[in-house]
Amino acid sequence: MNNFYIVANLKMNKSFEESKLYLKFLQNKVKNSKCEIILFPSNISLAYFHENIYGMQVGVQDIDYRSEGEGTGSISASQVKDICNYVLIGHSERRIIFSEDDKLLNKKLKSSWKNNLKTIFCVGEDINIRNSGAKAVEDYIVKQLVNSLENDSDWQNLIVAYEPIWAIGTGKPADASQIKDVLEIIKQTLNKLSNNINIPILYGGSINEENFQNYKNQRNIDGLLIGSSSLNPDVLSKIINNI
Ligand code: PEP
Repeated sequence: MNNFYIVANLKMNKSFEESKLYLKFLQNKVKNSKCEIILFPSNISLAYFHENIYGMQVGVQDIDYRSEGEGTGSISASQVKDICNYVLIGHSERRIIFSEDDKLLNKKLKSSWKNNLKTIFCVGEDINIRNSGAKAVEDYIVKQLVNSLENDSDWQNLIVAYEPIWAIGTGKPADASQIKDVLEIIKQTLNKLSNNINIPILYGGSINEENFQNYKNQRNIDGLLIGSSSLNPDVLSKIINNI
């Protein structure tokens, strides 16, 4: 497996036909990638991606914490386990728009692991917490990790994404000095909880063609989670080909 992750979160974008063209274009453009590439299309395209993707992985953007039955409109880990191998859990949009709390996210993590899915678990503070100082940020992030992860979590199937909310979709990415201490805290917390299992950490927030190189060699960053810039397959392929 390659050891740098490029993760594309397409969110609620692209019709089925647009998604097909997107995947075709991306597959044609990506050359000898040295990255582990994981694409998160919307649910309508999961099966198509599963059947037509090669050299890349597919993930679902969210799951219900339950496995089947009542839950109109929801999709469960046991339903998608045959067509994808990753799940995104705790994205700030789910936490904020859908009021998902740490306890619910803990259940979603457990359900994913029970179905042998790898999880990308997102944490990150908003601008008010950031403006309250380094200690407030540290406490908040540690709480997010500790509240949703447990000693018997499936550490081998966990990746953590640090996504400061103030950097998501704002065009104002965090620079190295703004995030290095938080990344270190995340690393230490995960080491403590998991008994020193090496859990990859991603950074996400306004990554684009111009700035992705800045994060490549930063300590405690094993990959990038990309939203807006991943919608253009040309841009995404340039990032992938130049990592
Ligand atoms: C995201 O929503 O996870 C994200 C990183 O978005 P963007 O790259 O647009 O900031």
